[in-house]
Amino acid sequence: METEHEQNKLCLVNGNNNTRKRQDFLEWPEYFMAVAFLSAQRSKDPNSQVGACIVNQENKIVGIGYNGMPNGCNDDLLPWSRTADDQLDTKYPYVCHAELNAIMNKNSADVKGCTMYVALFPCNECAKLIIQAGIKEVVYLSDKYHDTPGMTASRRLLNMAGVLFRQFEPKRTEIVIDFNSINHTGSRSNSSQ
Ligand SMILES: [Zn+2]
Repeated sequence: METEHEQNKLCLVNGNNNTRKRQDFLEWPEYFMAVAFLSAQRSKDPNSQVGACIVNQENKIVGIGYNGMPNGCNDDLLPWSRTADDQLDTKYPYVCHAELNAIMNKNSADVKGCTMYVALFPCNECAKLIIQAGIKEVVYLSDKYHDTPGMTASRRLLNMAGVLFRQFEPKRTEIVIDFNSINHTGSRSNSSQ
């Protein structure tokens, strides 16, 4: 472990403060979860924005999705409510979950052996898709519907099919995307770029 003095000396030897690599770069799991969360910002759902990001064994993103109405179905004409006297006036019969869209949007031949990063623990319908698509691991952030029958069924299916699932514990609570940062040199970017 270098002391601060030694680090300063190293900077002097190198003649510039930006020759050491950044230490606060995003690690892969944070990056993929952040991609899922960024994608969720595309959602038109007023109550729930969920994103999913599928990654292969080479840490390459092969699919991204967020919750929304099916392609070609006008999301101004379909309902977004969670409750209504008639179930047909709620979003549930129509909306595609982020996991479904991420799998369908894949840019690879298949997603076998991949990991899915998703904001919410997948429901039982998405668990079926994940299993059938050959995804081997699910990394989720929130499990807020843990005690519902849908989530219980989901865990039962994922466990039986041998799909691993684990909760992501972020080291930071937020990641800020600052479009102005590219115009500034300093700690967040390399001035030589
Ligand atoms: Zn689902």
